[in-house]
Amino acid sequence: MSNAAFSVESMGDTARRRCVELAVSVSGWQKVIHGSERDARGRLAAAIYDVQGGDAAMRFSLCGRGDKIMRGGGQTRVKPCKCGSRFCARCSRYKGLSHAKRAKAHLSAREHGHVSHVVLTQRVRKAETWREAVKRWDRTWRQFWRQVKRRGDVVGGLLTIHVTWSRFGGWHAHGHLLSETNGAPDGRAWDEFWTLARRRTGDDGELEPLFIRQVCEPGPALVFGKGEGDLWTEGQDQVANALEYPLRDVVSGVRNEQLHEVPADRLLEWVGGAKGVQMHRRLGAWVKPVAVEDDGEGTSTDGEAAVVVEREMGTVDDVIARARAGQREAVLLLRELEACCRNDGVVAKRLVAIVRWAIGG
Ligand SMILES: [Zn+2]
Repeated sequence: MSNAAFSVESMGDTARRRCVELAVSVSGWQKVIHGSERDARGRLAAAIYDVQGGDAAMRFSLCGRGDKIMRGGGQTRVKPCKCGSRFCARCSRYKGLSHAKRAKAHLSAREHGHVSHVVLTQRVRKAETWREAVKRWDRTWRQFWRQVKRRGDVVGGLLTIHVTWSRFGGWHAHGHLLSETNGAPDGRAWDEFWTLARRRTGDDGELEPLFIRQVCEPGPALVFGKGEGDLWTEGQDQVANALEYPLRDVVSGVRNEQLHEVPADRLLEWVGGAKGVQMHRRLGAWVKPVAVEDDGEGTSTDGEAAVVVEREMGTVDDVIARARAGQREAVLLLRELEACCRNDGVVAKRLVAIVRWAIGG
């Protein structure tokens, strides 16, 4: 199978082909939550079929088709029906967002310190497997973090490992760290620690400097906007908003549009090798939950709040189709959904676009 010309016909046995067909024939709502990159979804479904079997591939292909619109307690929300796959754009994003939620809880529970965004890269080795690239990065990270912690100014942090495909071939593992420190981090020292650690794990020659950028200065407890997951609204607190976006970027999961160039055998190598690898880690004080985090009310998208009686209004795709056909209630539902989604993220933009299309406005 070539990575340039993907065709369903070349997808082998009937069950396997069915999974791939479903993965590439994305519904309107699936386009909103996964993006419209059909090729990557089809090839991923095939790889998942080969490594994890037909059930996992089918779940992956159908992720989002069962999402329902719920109304009740004065709010309209989407109840996601997730596939849970780490290779799924939506589900890997949700996984990351659960860590981001914890980070936000810490930053909104008390005065916060300096928050910085740090990117820790390593050189790409073409022949290295996905797993080897991540393991090597991890060895470097452990050495680096030991040095940083020894300096004693770290309060907490959230680390996410991203692995992208290099345009020269090979997996590029790198880490995004959002750190909270008491004083401003000593960029020169951190850069030295990272360079030294990289040399120990095999990167030589001239190494590019560490990317380290301040996201915000110390300040009072932050007030984030409402909602979570894909449906959320920016709040009044400028600093919290300025932090929300890099935080979401840091924890972002699989991006289908970045998988174009990955050859089929390397995609298979990823799906086969990713098991058990932790892509997100909370650090320092951010490891533990904040006491006030879980007794909040009303904003949970998981529908745990027992007092709210909700009514199921149909699958999102269903409501979109009904709105398209001019049904008033469906139009109203989509408008309500759009109103819960006031932000500048890519999912929000796709949601707004499909709502406009469905209600013809
Ligand atoms: Zn999924």
